[in-house]
Amino acid sequence: MKNIKIDELFKYTKAQFDKFKDHRGANKQYSIGDCVQSGLAVFSLKDSSLLSYNNQITERLENLKRIYKINNPPSDGQMREVLDEIVPIQIERVKREVIKKIQQKELLKEFEYFPGYLLLAVDGVHHFSSKSVNCVNCLERNHSDGTITYSHSMLASVITHPTKKIVIPLCEEPIVHQDGQTKNDCEINAAIRLFDKTRTRHMDLKFIRLEDALFANGPHIQKIQSTGDKYIICVKEGSGAGSVIKQYEHLLEITDAERLANKKAAAKAHKLYKWHGIEKPVADKPVVKVLELKEDKILKVYHYVNGLYLNEAHKEMKVNFVHYEERSITTNKILKRFDWITDISVTQENVEKIEKAGRARWKIENETFNTLKNQGYNFKHNFGHGEKNLCTNFALLMMLAFLIDQIQQLSNEVFQKVLAKKKWKKYIWEDVRSFFRTLPFESMDMIYKAILYGIKVEYLAIQENSD
Ligand SMILES: [Zn+2]
Repeated sequence: MKNIKIDELFKYTKAQFDKFKDHRGANKQYSIGDCVQSGLAVFSLKDSSLLSYNNQITERLENLKRIYKINNPPSDGQMREVLDEIVPIQIERVKREVIKKIQQKELLKEFEYFPGYLLLAVDGVHHFSSKSVNCVNCLERNHSDGTITYSHSMLASVITHPTKKIVIPLCEEPIVHQDGQTKNDCEINAAIRLFDKTRTRHMDLKFIRLEDALFANGPHIQKIQSTGDKYIICVKEGSGAGSVIKQYEHLLEITDAERLANKKAAAKAHKLYKWHGIEKPVADKPVVKVLELKEDKILKVYHYVNGLYLNEAHKEMKVNFVHYEERSITTNKILKRFDWITDISVTQENVEKIEKAGRARWKIENETFNTLKNQGYNFKHNFGHGEKNLCTNFALLMMLAFLIDQIQQLSNEVFQKVLAKKKWKKYIWEDVRSFFRTLPFESMDMIYKAILYGIKVEYLAIQENSD
């Protein structure tokens, strides 16, 4: 099995953090590497707060040294001070190199969905909110009672796969406040920065971008295609590509009328089709094709049509369309409905695969951000805000810790067995913290083995007079 051991990764991150630029003066009690690695250890061990980290330094001293390579752990105050000054891109570069290791072991190949392509989704999350604490980068929301809410959010691009529970967070981009911009502007601009960042940092990967209806517009689609990527974008009526749904509905009316040999209805539908200004190319006439699959009491209906145009402003831009709905066989009620546009040519053979990819976009919410919030990473807890980069750097270190854990779930057989035994990650972290605090271990892998197989203590001594 291709394995990337967690202990190798900790050794690697520490060596990289040691090389970070240090802007402090001569009087440095703690090395920069020890400070940044301690930040990573907080999220790796899933401490509930920096106070909790601080209170256990003495008991954990030896294991922090052996496992995380932290020679002299800083107090929480010192850690905050150092992390506030660090330029976030330095942490991002370390994460980029960790992802390269996954590539070198060919582990990303497991995520390939269409030959040569990975599915990439983007989502955002708030990770800080306060009515009083703020910094220059905070997003501000003014309330009618005159108060202001300050917050920090981040967008993340994540490799996902419909059949996998694991996701690979590739790049992050903070949504930061810029003068004269609304919150919505900030989010769209952050999405554009994230798009460029993901593309330039991972030139060797090809993506099928799974995106929100907000991005179903001509310039954005042209940008995706100019990079060699493909897309599956959600469409909604009234959005930038809402015209596609109208084209589809009229074509469906024609298809239905023609299928039922209802000449009158077909003529009416054709008229409407013309009235809406929908062009009907002579060659390659778009036709709605239907695929129906039964599963228990559900009828899964796929409609697809190739060769529609994006919208009135971009009639030259051809898009393919997939409509998916689930109906109750007993009541015929529509239970779910989704519509997408894509530049993948849709066929009876791949329509289901495209639908599953389109719906995998929501996995990022379930598998990434819910895991961070509910499985022990304390994503929403406030570890400190700082005046410059602390808030962003903590979020980036948490994503790095999350990535390292995902790599274990992907490639470490012992960790996989531990997860199968414990069912929930939060129970694994509880055991890790408990072993880490009380017994000397040589590696994190050894702790995983201790959780899996149990430990045998030959001799137990109480040190009554020890400090
Ligand atoms: Zn702030």
